[in-house]
Amino acid sequence: IRQKIVAGNWKMNGSKASIDSLLSGLCAMKSSNSEVVVSPSFPYLSEVSTALADSDIVLAAQNASHEEKGAYTGEVSALMLSDFGVKYVLLGHSERRSLYSESDQVVALKAKAVLEAGLTPMLCVGETLEERELNQTLVVCERQIQAVIDLLGVDAFSRMVIAYEPVWAIGTGLSASSEQAQEVHQSIRAFLAQHSESIAEKIQILYGGSVKASTSAALFEMPDVDGALVGGASLDAKEFIEIVKAAG
Ligand code: 13P
Repeated sequence: IRQKIVAGNWKMNGSKASIDSLLSGLCAMKSSNSEVVVSPSFPYLSEVSTALADSDIVLAAQNASHEEKGAYTGEVSALMLSDFGVKYVLLGHSERRSLYSESDQVVALKAKAVLEAGLTPMLCVGETLEERELNQTLVVCERQIQAVIDLLGVDAFSRMVIAYEPVWAIGTGLSASSEQAQEVHQSIRAFLAQHSESIAEKIQILYGGSVKASTSAALFEMPDVDGALVGGASLDAKEFIEIVKAAG
């Protein structure tokens, strides 16, 4: 039995004031069987970590450098993140891949750095609309996963989480149907099972892309959907709490 994870990716949103009010909303949440995660931008990690110290909510960062330390102006290392109580690091989000040209290989190097710092990569994979229409969905997801296997071996996935985020569903209001999500999640699990059945069985695979409270219950009923990575709806405490409730 895999514990569900409901993670809010705040992306580049928020201010001290808006994050304060979001956090006070979230702290009113009843305890849940799911693991609840929030992912603020770097400058807010410290204060969010302090604010959540007495809660069960867990902290994630949205990115990390693939280098350990040194002359890399503007970068943030995984070790720095571990200093601030971060547990998860989102890696390979489609916005990073497309807008900041992160290749599969760079994402794999980042996974290595994050694991070496003792943190858990949340590896995002997913196809564009064009790729889906060309029936390349699985080819793309498997290629993105294979790059990590090539560098680190499949065992690395015993300390990772995967988020399937179809690019066409991100920020569009057009969520994948629960059946579409299930189909891809099951295939990703089957792909990993070719390397290791026990890792495939254990790994949590989250769905991301226009997740809302109203659609989340159907998603969470799917046997291979182990939670959600929520963008826009995670900026609204009430909506996010409803999604956490739907996860049980
Ligand atoms: P939305 O929920 O806003 O579509 O964003 C999904 C996402 O990219 C989470 O990482």
